[in-house]
Amino acid sequence: MKFEELGLSDEALRAVADIGYDVPTPIQEKAIPVVLQGRDLFGVAQTGTGKTASFTLPMIDILASGQAKARMPRTLILEPTRELATQVAENFEEYGKYHKLSLALLIGGVRMDAQNKKVDRGVDVLIATPGRLLDHVDNGRLMLGGIKILVIDEADRMLDMGFMPDVERIVGQLPPLRQTLFFSATMPAEIKRLAGKFLRNPREVSVAPPAALADNVEQTLFVVEAEDKRVALRNILRDQKVERALIFCNRKRDVGVLARSLKRHGFGAAELHGDLAQSVRTETLERFKKGEIDLLVASDVAARGLDIEGLPHVFNFDVPTHAEDYIHRIGRTARAGLSGHAITLAAPEDSKYIAAIKALIGKEIPRAPAPGVEEASLDESRAGRPRRDGRSSGGRSARAGRGRGKAPNEGKRRQSSHGESHGSSQSAPRAPREIAVKQADASDEARSPQRTKSDNAPANDEARNPRRAKSDNAPAREQARSRGKSPSGGRGEDVIGLGDHVPAFLLRKP
Ligand code: AMP
Repeated sequence: MKFEELGLSDEALRAVADIGYDVPTPIQEKAIPVVLQGRDLFGVAQTGTGKTASFTLPMIDILASGQAKARMPRTLILEPTRELATQVAENFEEYGKYHKLSLALLIGGVRMDAQNKKVDRGVDVLIATPGRLLDHVDNGRLMLGGIKILVIDEADRMLDMGFMPDVERIVGQLPPLRQTLFFSATMPAEIKRLAGKFLRNPREVSVAPPAALADNVEQTLFVVEAEDKRVALRNILRDQKVERALIFCNRKRDVGVLARSLKRHGFGAAELHGDLAQSVRTETLERFKKGEIDLLVASDVAARGLDIEGLPHVFNFDVPTHAEDYIHRIGRTARAGLSGHAITLAAPEDSKYIAAIKALIGKEIPRAPAPGVEEASLDESRAGRPRRDGRSSGGRSARAGRGRGKAPNEGKRRQSSHGESHGSSQSAPRAPREIAVKQADASDEARSPQRTKSDNAPANDEARNPRRAKSDNAPAREQARSRGKSPSGGRGEDVIGLGDHVPAFLLRKP
């Protein structure tokens, strides 16, 4: 099928031709005519399928008639992360370059005044993360009564991140007579329920995950002890002469630790996660896209949808605990028909996460021995076992001190050909340095308890929004409360002031 057959305007077609797209992708073929007809849409599609153009192109054409009014935007696109919102805004400008449409990007982490000014003037399109949008609404600076088209993008991601209460509040303020486009990469029961609530008689279109993923991405799995991961990573980076890579960690804190460690070992690395100021996030991503940063260590804030041209390598320093995130992360490489390499470092305790990924992608990830580091085995019996650093398994970082000088296999470790040593007998010069990193990090935590809290949260956008922080913490509070009860369930009283951990002796009856 050709773009010309989809019913788009000449201006939109010219913009598409300027970008160089030859034919529509399957989601564009299916969704564009439905959106142009004014019908609600339930699109099951992942990033990388051309999904953004499937809603922005027809929206631009629909918006071509009519005018924006002050403080009353005509369309609203909700995105789970600031990065995705920014990218959609860039796409909107590119696809809409032959139209005169005004756009405002409302994302957290940046000052509100410039956003207010834009909204005051009147915009056709609002692209927003839910928390910041509600801040504007609550300040009385923005009215949602003029919204004719609503796009909820990456709905499953919004659900994972705990944004759905905000989304439901936003939807509650929109006119019931509107067109709604709802996109999700997966379709769990809760997403189906929400789709039923937000959509009216929708057309459902569904496309397979980007085929390029399976074909063009070479995948490799290295299984090593958690404390060997950093050495393994450095050796792989050197061995494979990796010049540019995105390296994912599961937790924000580990992103910083790994980036600093890589820098100390002479690599050009930077960090990207949701606790950084938005200006830093934007600048870091721009520099990485331009090739000014070699290694970008990131949380999952960079996993979905980010378009980084010609990125040859993606590393999972930690195995993602949600199998779908594996697909999102490695989908950052091998974009636009190029090939790429996705490398995953797993610890023995990650067996269940690796099994979930295998089930999702329908095949084993080919294994290889990590250069200069003793190979380990996935070990079901170690799955979920808490580590000495208090973290559950998930391959997230070196276990603090585990086995240093005590590990049963330590004597077997060998000196690597890369000049990195492993094991007690040979690691004496290295061990203090690695320990120093841990200590520095621990003292950071002590200085900033708030940071520690959000580090343990999923690597979300807008983690500091107090409204959401409150609702996000509710389940944790519930758990703490139930943990605060005696094992017999006897008194059922809360123990106040000890956080989640209540020593058992305090709960024993005198
Ligand atoms: P998305 O799923 O919207 O994140 O898009 C993924 C990538 O596909 C982006 O780099 C787009 O520029 C690109 N893309 C979108 N539509 C097409 C198309 N029809 N032909 C080729 N590339 C496309």
